[in-house]
This record gives sequence, structure tokens and C-alpha cells, in this order.
Amino acid sequence: MKRAVLLSALLLTLPLAGCSMRADTQKTVKSVFAMDTYMELTAYGECGDALDAAEDRIRALEQMLSATDAGSEIWAANHADGSAVPISADTAAILREASAVHDMSGGALSVSVYPVVQAWGFTTGTYRVPEDAEVKSLLQNVDDTRISYTADSLTVPADMQIDLGALAKGYTGDAVISMLRDAGVTSAILNLGGNVQALGSKPDGSAWMVGIAHPFAPEKELGTVRITDCAAVTSGNYERFFTDDSGVKHWHIIDPADGYPADNGLVSVTVIGRSGLHCDALSTALFVEGTERAAAHWRKCADFEMVLVTDGAEIYVTEGIADVFTNQSDMPVKVLKK
Ligand code: FAD
Ligand code: MG
Repeated sequence: MKRAVLLSALLLTLPLAGCSMRADTQKTVKSVFAMDTYMELTAYGECGDALDAAEDRIRALEQMLSATDAGSEIWAANHADGSAVPISADTAAILREASAVHDMSGGALSVSVYPVVQAWGFTTGTYRVPEDAEVKSLLQNVDDTRISYTADSLTVPADMQIDLGALAKGYTGDAVISMLRDAGVTSAILNLGGNVQALGSKPDGSAWMVGIAHPFAPEKELGTVRITDCAAVTSGNYERFFTDDSGVKHWHIIDPADGYPADNGLVSVTVIGRSGLHCDALSTALFVEGTERAAAHWRKCADFEMVLVTDGAEIYVTEGIADVFTNQSDMPVKVLKK
């Protein structure tokens, strides 16, 4: 069942459009609640019924991908007792990306960590701190290399379950951007609960300005990045979390190495790149990897840039976006170089 509560999705990453728009530019906005988050789709210029079609596509993808919806392909694979189930090209594309980022992050992204996420109560909102023995027992069946899939079928071993929630919103954003482009839209901005994706530039030709939430005061902005034709996806520990009776905070991104909320020095990771799917997969993986491994990971890749915020209140910005990042906080910024 969906949790009706939507925490501060709109505060996570806000596209600050509109400052210097031409007054005569037509603007169409559609708000959608799906995938347990508020989404806002904004297109400029003539867009016909493209945003209605985008909403239909978002709802279709949700039905196909949701681990908690008994009609979804993922549910079917999770409840097939280890038999192969048919899947769509969409699910296959997300699984391919999940495998690739799993491998390049040393298992930091593991879609099979789902039973551990469930044990902490993050799928239902009925939070609890599981016993160490329960965590260890569940971890024995966390192993993405045991999942097998082809272009049209998926097999999840009987003692495992998977969830694509760490990267499916990114895929959804890419799908919507591609539909809008096909419909002739040249300027649009999507906010899918922390995933911002831009099509082209603002109607006046300038870059979109995207606000990054301040992880220690999420109602405020840490800073902004200026982007054109790409995605800016944030994963943080300040939105989906609970505090236990001893006052300890536990958040929803789990380190598959130990089954506990990932606590490797980072409180927020924003990934900027062309593919929303890749950025979403990476934002979760790099959060788990922590500062040093995330920096090493970035140095090996040419397809993304990032803004890291550490639990010691420092900001790291990679050199490829250093000149489009504006710091609005009092935290010091260090530039990571290749
Ligand atoms: P991200 O960092 O992008 O992802 C974190 C999420 O990935 C966690 O919440 C957890 O689910 C999972 N995860 C944690 N650690 C890891 C790891 N190491 N490797 C891989 N995955 C990990 N939420 C509900 O409460 N109810 C719903 O019915 C529901 N339906 C959804 C349906 C769809 C199709 C999608 C895409 C999401 C849905 N969600 C639902 C939200 C989902 O459970 C996640 O909370 C959400 O996608 C997290 O996105 P994020 O950007 O906050 O964080
Ligand atoms: Mg993610």
C-alpha cells in the first residue's frame, strides 16, 4: 500500500525556473503523485497533450516496476519461487543498468538488498531496528549476481527479492524527456521527487538553475547548479529516516556490506549527467561508497559530475561542474580533480 505521506519531496531538489522567462512563452505544468512522491512536469512552448501522455507513461511504469504492487513485473519475479517471468524492455533496461552500477561500485548498489530495507520498515513506514542476527541472516541472500535476466525474462532465486526503487525514477525521467522531445518540445524541466531532469535550456536560452537541499536544514538550499539538457539527482539521509528510542537516526539507504544504514561519511550526493537512469543509480551507489571511494569512482568515469556533502560539513564538487555550482551555505567547498 502506498504511504500517503510525502515528506518534503519538493524541498529535496528544486528547479528554480522562471526568473528571466519571456512573458509570452506558454508554460504548461502537470503535477502527478506516483512512485510515492510528488512529481512536477513543466514544459514551455506548444506541447499539445504531451504532458497527459507523460502522466500515463509514469503510471504505466509504476505499475510495471513497483515492488509492492501485486500486478507488477517485479512482484511477479519476487513471488515466482525462482521461475523465470516475462518482463518488458523497460524492466530489462533498468536491470542492465543496475548490474553495471553494482559491478562498478563493488556492490554498493544491490537491488537484492530489498528484504533488509523491508526489515527496517522503510517500505511500509512501520520503522524498527532489526536484531543484528536478523540483519546477518537476511544478508546471506543479498547477492545481485544470483539474479538472471534476458531481454524479456527475469529470474529471482526463491530465497531472494529485488526492488528497483534506487534507480527507477531516473529511468522514468529519461522516458518522459524522450516523449517530450518526440512531441517537439525543446524546453522542459521535470522534478520527480529529488530527481531533476532538464530538456534543453530555459526558453530564453539560459541554463536551468537547480537548487540542492541543505542536508542539515532541508528547508534551505545548500547551493545551486546550472544545467542544460541533463539530470541532477540527489540521494540523502535527511528525508526518509526515523529516530529510535535512543535518539539514533536511521535512514533508508542501506550498505549491502553490513545491512545497516550506509554511514560512510556522506549525508548527501548529487549526481549530474546526461542519463537520469545512470545518475539515479549512481546517487545511491556513491552515497554507500562514501567520500573516498566515491571520489575514486568518479576519477575512473567520464560520464558524470557530482556534489558531495560530508557529515563533517564539507562540500566536495568535481571540477567539471565547479564553475556552475554556487555555494549558498557557510560550509567550505573543495574541488575534486581527476
Ligand atoms: P535513492 O537513493 O534513489 O534510493 C534509495 C532507495 O533504494 C531506498 O529507499 C531503498 O528502497 C533502496 N535501497 C536502499 N539501499 C540500497 C542499495 N544499497 N542498493 C539498492 N537499493 C537500495 N515507496 C513507498 O513507500 N511505497 C510505495 O508503494 C512505493 N512505490 C514505488 C514504486 C516505484 C515504481 C518506485 C520507483 C518507487 C516507489 N516507492 C514507494 C519509493 C521507493 O521505495 C524509494 O523510497 C524511492 O524510490 C527512493 O528514491 P530516493 O530518490 O529517495 O532515493
Ligand atoms: Mg538513486
